[in-house]
Amino acid sequence: MTDPAITKPGSDPVVVAIDGPAGSGKSSVSKQVARRLGYGYLDTGAAYRALAWHALERGIDTSDAASVLDVSGDFDYAISLDPDAYWVRVAQTDVTDAIREPRVSEAVSGVARVPAVRESVNVLFRALVAGSGRRGVVVEGRDITTVVAPDAPVRILLTAAPEIRAARRSAEVTTQDAAAVAAALHQRDASDSAVVDFLTAAPGVEVVDSTHLDFDQTVDAVLGVIQTALGAPAVDSLQTGA
Ligand code: C5P
Repeated sequence: MTDPAITKPGSDPVVVAIDGPAGSGKSSVSKQVARRLGYGYLDTGAAYRALAWHALERGIDTSDAASVLDVSGDFDYAISLDPDAYWVRVAQTDVTDAIREPRVSEAVSGVARVPAVRESVNVLFRALVAGSGRRGVVVEGRDITTVVAPDAPVRILLTAAPEIRAARRSAEVTTQDAAAVAAALHQRDASDSAVVDFLTAAPGVEVVDSTHLDFDQTVDAVLGVIQTALGAPAVDSLQTGA
């Protein structure tokens, strides 16, 4: 009862592409979906964050594209694709927590708007998926459905109303007040959407709106889209007991 498209040895992993803005629940939902499917999980935003962290460590002005490009030449990046053991490293340094700091969130859009940076991280993302050794990988970000994996068999845009996203993010970030968190999130959305349109679904991309859904309902909605797209055998591969 297995789907050859999912399990054939030596075949490329199935990509489940999930895009969405900050606070849509994208990361936690994608991680849980990966667990339920026994898939890998690739957080692409972490690469941009880690590069921003690296640039800040070097004292680089992250709004200067030439400096960002320069420092990206010396960027030794590694990330775990295991949804149960997530870590991010730059050279020998574990930056898993550091890349979530507000100073990194503020700097990351500057790094992400450099086209040559985007091209090189996209090559890296495709290599990480191909070398994952998994049947499938849930890849989440802003341009996965459109640029990184436009041919993925499952492509989803996870959205939520702006005020809901701000409230969720401020519940996660306890070091700043809610108004500051909301302002920073909207500022980052504005900068990011000048680079990639992640608020509108491209043709063929399924929208899951989590505004009125709790976490488990959102996970189920995403799994429903995946089952419809991959067919009944994917249901058999679902791991129960979550
Ligand atoms: O998903 P997360 O909020 O951690 O992403 C951090 C930043 O990385 C985004 O604000 C955006 O600037 C950039 N990003 C991107 N393309 C992706 C993923 C993230 O430009 N696929």
